[in-house]
Amino acid sequence: MSPSRVLVLNSGSSSVKYQLLDMRDGSRPATGLVERIGERTSRLRHTGPAADPREQYGPIADHEAALKAVAEELTADGLGLDSPELAAIGHRVVHGGMSFTEPTVIDDAVLAEIERLIPLAPLHNPANLTGIRTARALRPDLPQVAVFDTAFHTTMPESAARYAIDPAIADRYRIRRYGFHGTSHAYVSRAAARLLGRTPQEVNVIVLHLGNGASASAVRGGRCVDTSMGLTPLEGLVMGTRSGDLDPAVIFHLARVGGMSMDEIDTLLNKRSGLFGLCGDNDMREIRRRIDEGDEAARLAFDVYVHRLKKYIGAYCAVLGRVDAVAFTAGVGENAAPVRAAAMAGLEGLGLAVDPELNAVRADEARLISPAGARVAVAVVPTDEELEIATQTYALVGTGSAPVGNNS
Ligand code: ADP
Repeated sequence: MSPSRVLVLNSGSSSVKYQLLDMRDGSRPATGLVERIGERTSRLRHTGPAADPREQYGPIADHEAALKAVAEELTADGLGLDSPELAAIGHRVVHGGMSFTEPTVIDDAVLAEIERLIPLAPLHNPANLTGIRTARALRPDLPQVAVFDTAFHTTMPESAARYAIDPAIADRYRIRRYGFHGTSHAYVSRAAARLLGRTPQEVNVIVLHLGNGASASAVRGGRCVDTSMGLTPLEGLVMGTRSGDLDPAVIFHLARVGGMSMDEIDTLLNKRSGLFGLCGDNDMREIRRRIDEGDEAARLAFDVYVHRLKKYIGAYCAVLGRVDAVAFTAGVGENAAPVRAAAMAGLEGLGLAVDPELNAVRADEARLISPAGARVAVAVVPTDEELEIATQTYALVGTGSAPVGNNS
């Protein structure tokens, strides 16, 4: 039988998440996480077929050491990188610019292009590259596929992707709206169509990916036509620690009047703003708890978050013209019923409403939360980026003859 397993690697700036998926039976024989790479307190948590997680503590110096440690854990479970069952490795790559519109089998030219895109994603692409290089060194003969966070958004029309600045300047510095979380938006928009018993081509969906990072997208007939993140993940919705949209002149003001450096402003807007900036907490559970205790700052943070979300929902109703479904996903979207209720409150004029009882149900499956007979379906759809990366990877290489260097 041909190999049916795909190892999915998500190499972040200080972490590596991995899952081994079997595409034949849908099982996940191993999953795990290496955290705090480069610190003294690194941790590897591995769950293999025995189900009981194994943990390792102690310094893991870099991504190369982290991947080698992961490979050893897999080998200990008889699932090593040399296993004949392994068909490919699928890598999450954050920024594919306009170079990569599809998942792509990695060769030297692809690596060079991902490297050329580093200025657009200085924290993420280098970590992704190290993951790819280390995995290639461990199994040079195995097909490796890059799945890009930006790829799903490359179908956006110029009217949505362009900033209203001099095109010559924009093009020189590759400034445009790229969007992120594309793997999740792709997966969730298709799953929402399935929930309605329709094909992705038949439906228009607004996807609200509300995790620690958060983004919205407008998907028409399976193709993304607008998304809320832009050149970087800073644009758009209020997030855990990112401000999302603000008047760009805030930056000039902080520099000229506040005397802050560019790096300080970057840190302020990316790491110390959003929910955290407004109330000191970025976890929606904690914010809800504080609101229940009458905390004003938490209330304000929640209200600002929901107001921005509503504005994007309204905007994407206008962009799409006809909306068949609104799908909530990721940590907040899947779990925080009060956010879903508040975001939909007062939008009956747009055909949007949630049924309070359905909204309160906790479940792991995709489900509808709109009242029976509603004009627009409102759904909770758990995202599964690993499955999407594995599916896209396997679709490229699973038949055995992998096209190489598929970057258009
Ligand atoms: P990431 O962007 O890091 O992948 P996730 O999609 O895992 O984030 O979302 C993490 C966030 O989800 C947490 O910061 C928290 O705000 C929110 N969250 C997780 N579980 C719950 C819950 N039960 N209720 C409300 N919010 C939750």
